[in-house]
Amino acid sequence: MIGVDVSKGRGKCRGCKQRIAKGEKRFWYLGGEYYGRPNIYYWHPKCFLEHNRKVVIDIITVFLPLLIGDEAAKPIIIALNLTGSNHFGG
Ligand SMILES: [Zn+2]
Repeated sequence: MIGVDVSKGRGKCRGCKQRIAKGEKRFWYLGGEYYGRPNIYYWHPKCFLEHNRKVVIDIITVFLPLLIGDEAAKPIIIALNLTGSNHFGG
């Protein structure tokens, strides 16, 4: 399970270990259970992209065009400056 919410200013980013500023959007995922309670990991979106670049790029460059079409996906991929396994060059 993954999601996005707004930081209350207490959680730390799993990537850079810095506090995620209050009011800032953060990415989270459920990482199993810890003593019977759900263990949630928070990330700055950019930190998650840096640490999981291959899988994020694959999802955006391969899966997104399937969902919304090549023409709609292309400007998003270019705007994110994603290079690698996409078929728009780069
Ligand atoms: Zn971070």
